[in-house]
Amino acid sequence: MDLEAVRLHRKQRLAAAFRIFARAGFDEGVAGHITARDPERLDHFWVNPFAMHFSQIRVSDLILVNDKGDVVEGDRGVNTAAFAIHSQLHAARPDVVAAAHTHSVHGKAWSTLGRLLDPITQDSCVFYNDHSLFDDYTGVVLKTDEGKRIAAALGEHKAVILRNHGLLTVGHSVEEAAYWFVTMDSTCHAQLLAEAAGKPVLIDSEMAELTASQVGSHAAGEIGFSPLYDVVVREEPDLLL
Ligand SMILES: [Zn+2]
Repeated sequence: MDLEAVRLHRKQRLAAAFRIFARAGFDEGVAGHITARDPERLDHFWVNPFAMHFSQIRVSDLILVNDKGDVVEGDRGVNTAAFAIHSQLHAARPDVVAAAHTHSVHGKAWSTLGRLLDPITQDSCVFYNDHSLFDDYTGVVLKTDEGKRIAAALGEHKAVILRNHGLLTVGHSVEEAAYWFVTMDSTCHAQLLAEAAGKPVLIDSEMAELTASQVGSHAAGEIGFSPLYDVVVREEPDLLL
């Protein structure tokens, strides 16, 4: 395997994911991070530099952080919360290549309810029996101990709702983690709208399980990202610099 090619592939998708998140309005001040595990130094991850707007991030702006939280490539700082949370996720889940977390509006609004998402639409089934709730809130996450607790709440799932905070998704690729985040925020939005209007009819468990197997696979997450990537690369080619 050509590790340099894998690294470049991940970094290009990571820079594009930030542009996609900016377009979706997922930025909020300095909050939010997406990480990609380095294919060679497996306890290191690539991440956005602290306080750089998602819409301006290029491949060359990404920084590499080691397992101690030191920036070992790049000349900008790392968000303390990004290290505290993501280092523990990557350590707890060797299968996870990428993780995404932001304070997107619909995700954080849903997170205040302290509930899992229900299977109310085809898209909601992506998360059926495959997300969990971190049912605690202890201020800004600055310590790796708290990141460990979040990783434990995530378990083997693809996503965790951080109560009173926001959403966090993971994947076997940057594409997958980023797409799960986009569709999870939209799923929160849909359920908030539906419950504001009435009492949504739930998809029964057998159908929800079947649908989850159709729309919630690793491959489905990766392909979901593909059209978003194509658009943003054509319209903002500087992201690849
Ligand atoms: Zn946060």
